[in-house]
Amino acid sequence: MRIVFIGPPGAGKGTQASRLAARLGVPHLSTGEILRDAAQTDSPVGKLAAEYMSKGYLVPDPIILKVVGERLERPDCAVGCLLDGFPRTMRQAEVLDEFFREMGTALDHAVEIRTDEEEIIRRLSARGRSDDRPDVVRSRLQSYWRKTWPLLDYYRNKDILRQIDGLGSEDEVSQRILAAIGN
Ligand code: AMP
Repeated sequence: MRIVFIGPPGAGKGTQASRLAARLGVPHLSTGEILRDAAQTDSPVGKLAAEYMSKGYLVPDPIILKVVGERLERPDCAVGCLLDGFPRTMRQAEVLDEFFREMGTALDHAVEIRTDEEEIIRRLSARGRSDDRPDVVRSRLQSYWRKTWPLLDYYRNKDILRQIDGLGSEDEVSQRILAAIGN
């Protein structure tokens, strides 16, 4: 099973992706986590990623595509994978389709976690990550609405968009996702 999770920062993508990955027995690939790990190192990619992330900007496509491409080639992804925080731009979505096509497979579901702005602010202020400061959050939300939100149409046209109400307990949201992907 190959699934991508889409939603604004603070929608609960990470939590839900990790729960679902455990249940399906597939790796959970969070590009945010991969980039945060890289940012801890002195590597050129890490330094560049840290610069973009600290401002709430998207890391440029060529960099993130290389990172994801290499990760998808690892043997644990043969059984499937759950991508959390990727794709975030139209270019990323198109290249992801190419990656899967080359692997002789395809994306099964694009799960959109929907929530409202009030809930986003509430969740992000409880979390306290360094890019959860109000000015950075504003810029991350802007990136979401400008660059990522259009992907919903892309997946709707492919008939694989599953829209989930992200309000409620973690269990409630998980149940909705499982029902939407027919599990
Ligand atoms: P996240 O943990 O998913 O909220 O991601 C944290 C930060 O990592 C984002 O604000 C971006 O700066 C960067 N990032 C994560 N995934 C991507 C992606 N697919 N494309 C570009 N930047 C990304």
